[in-house]
Amino acid sequence: MTNSFTNASAKDVGTAWLGGEFAGKLVVGNWKMNGLATDAKALVQALVAQGAGDKSLAPQGQAGVQLAICPPFTLLNPVRQWLGAAPLWLGAQDCHAEEKGAFTGNISAAMLRDAGCQLCILGHSERRQAGESSSQIAEKLAAALRHQLIPILCIGETLAERQAGQTLAVLAEQLASSLPFPLAGSGGSSATPAPIVVAYEPVWAIGTGLSATLDQIAEVHQFLRQQTAALGHVPLLYGGSVKASNAAEIMALGDVDGVLVGGASLNAEEFWQIAVAASTVLAGRSVSTAAA
Ligand code: PEP
Repeated sequence: MTNSFTNASAKDVGTAWLGGEFAGKLVVGNWKMNGLATDAKALVQALVAQGAGDKSLAPQGQAGVQLAICPPFTLLNPVRQWLGAAPLWLGAQDCHAEEKGAFTGNISAAMLRDAGCQLCILGHSERRQAGESSSQIAEKLAAALRHQLIPILCIGETLAERQAGQTLAVLAEQLASSLPFPLAGSGGSSATPAPIVVAYEPVWAIGTGLSATLDQIAEVHQFLRQQTAALGHVPLLYGGSVKASNAAEIMALGDVDGVLVGGASLNAEEFWQIAVAASTVLAGRSVSTAAA
């Protein structure tokens, strides 16, 4: 892996993505409420050792694989230290919409940036199910962007919504109402105000071991590509029971720019194999492009 992105700001990285130049894969681990110092250190050290010793993550750089991990707040600072110069990005799992003040128990976007984060997951279904609304998520997203964090906006339908044939309508509504700017740009402008990543995470596939089918993922990602077209190339991730055994076929789909991984990101070898799968997909693409 290259370390060219290690300390890149959201603006630097986003400019490349939004300019349509990002042809790589983003592999993000969401640790959720897991990790005590001892286990977390071993996990990070195993990932760093893989990165140092394994040359299989090629191609690299902007058209390559970017790995990121999102530990709980308590581990952000130690994880940053344990990562050292390793080229993984650090992300958080939420932030508060306000800058600072009397918000007991909360963490601001500025604090996350201060802790060395590049990314922030927002609107995860586990938070939406706990009562977070799309308009609250939009405010958090604006705060993340103000502090040069790349937001990973999560959207997804429940099983009941899918069975009722409402999937695309639900996703369109969640997407539009969770953004702090109009999807189509305002005043006829199609320029996105800032870099964002969108993760499609069907609620029924999260933590269940039951991933969406390739047809379902392809349909939704094609739809989201159209929905976000006015914003430039918005990286689209899939999340929901991704593991080493299904990662390659998911990331081989045309509109899938990477994966958001929960449970499998807690195992260094499994997470690494997902990154290797991303690399294999990219290598296959460059071989077929060269042959064409
Ligand atoms: C997640 O929580 O974002 C997720 C995708 O979880 P899992 O991979 O465990 O389904």
